[in-house]
Amino acid sequence: MTILEVENLHTVFPTPRGEVEAVDGVDLTIESGEIVGLVGESGSGKSVLADSIVGIVEEPGEVMEGDVRFHGESLLEKTDAEMADIRGGSISMVFQDPMNSLNPTLTVGEQIAETVRLHQDVGEGVSLPAEVKRKILGASKNSEAWRKAIEMLEAVGIPEPDSRASDYPHEFSGGMRQRAMIAMALSCEPDLLVADEPTTALDVTIQAQILDELRALKEEFDTSILLITHDLAVVAETCDRVNVMYAGKIVERAPADELFSNPQHPYTQGLLASTPRLDDPRDDLQPIEGNVPDLIDVPYACHFAPRCPEAERECYERPPDFREVGEETEHVAACLRRGPPEEQL
Ligand code: SF4
Repeated sequence: MTILEVENLHTVFPTPRGEVEAVDGVDLTIESGEIVGLVGESGSGKSVLADSIVGIVEEPGEVMEGDVRFHGESLLEKTDAEMADIRGGSISMVFQDPMNSLNPTLTVGEQIAETVRLHQDVGEGVSLPAEVKRKILGASKNSEAWRKAIEMLEAVGIPEPDSRASDYPHEFSGGMRQRAMIAMALSCEPDLLVADEPTTALDVTIQAQILDELRALKEEFDTSILLITHDLAVVAETCDRVNVMYAGKIVERAPADELFSNPQHPYTQGLLASTPRLDDPRDDLQPIEGNVPDLIDVPYACHFAPRCPEAERECYERPPDFREVGEETEHVAACLRRGPPEEQL
């Protein structure tokens, strides 16, 4: 069952020099219980796409066109209050920096218990001062919400969750804080978790553990996950399907195995050639020359053309359409030099 459908989404930021089209006609779907990767360099528009999906695009940015349907209902037609409810309930988010998302004045257990209470609609309200919350929550350590908080900490692999639930965020390591954020996000039992660079600040070992846990949690709670990262190794380890994004557009989409064994778009090939892989150690990594273009009135039809080793003159003039490529029918790439031989440049 499809739970999220993004259709022809355009998100624009006005600037004194013109409009930045950070998301430029993106289509994307997520099925129930699926982990979908969104990968690309920084500046490719991934985070703006995530913000557009969950309705938190920073002003003056605005979704100008397209639709985001969650369980078949348009999120763009919801009021701010309805969207706030959805974000606290059926859609949760995890960001790169857990310190900015955790309240330093409440213990980790109190914060997760509060999320559980709010989700169960028996909460004490988010606007209470920390002292008051602590008294209420501290007095209710036998409560269902506190027990659920400990269960969630255990589910994300926090050792001795009974005692660690009473620790403050600064008493947790970076990896444990990120797990606590995931525990908090999953404590509302969301249908969809949007995780934006959830492991970027962590060392490789902790990163691998957290990705393992995300996969296990997906199985346990049947949560769908949109995993946003610049790191192809992360999506290779974790995702069922992958979307590669470049300069505001999706340029390739495929099941994860297929994408890594048979990358087709020159940008994806460049990303792979520049990414170290645990299963294929190489010392000849090749960075992609140049930078993501300034997204104000990109003057060439294929946004990747100035960096593409295969570019021809027509690539600057004719926008590339999606074409079936590779072994799998679900594998598509937006490149004029791919697809059926009769269609290639
Ligand atoms: S359309 Fe042309 S420039 Fe764009 S990726 Fe394909 S070959 Fe490269």
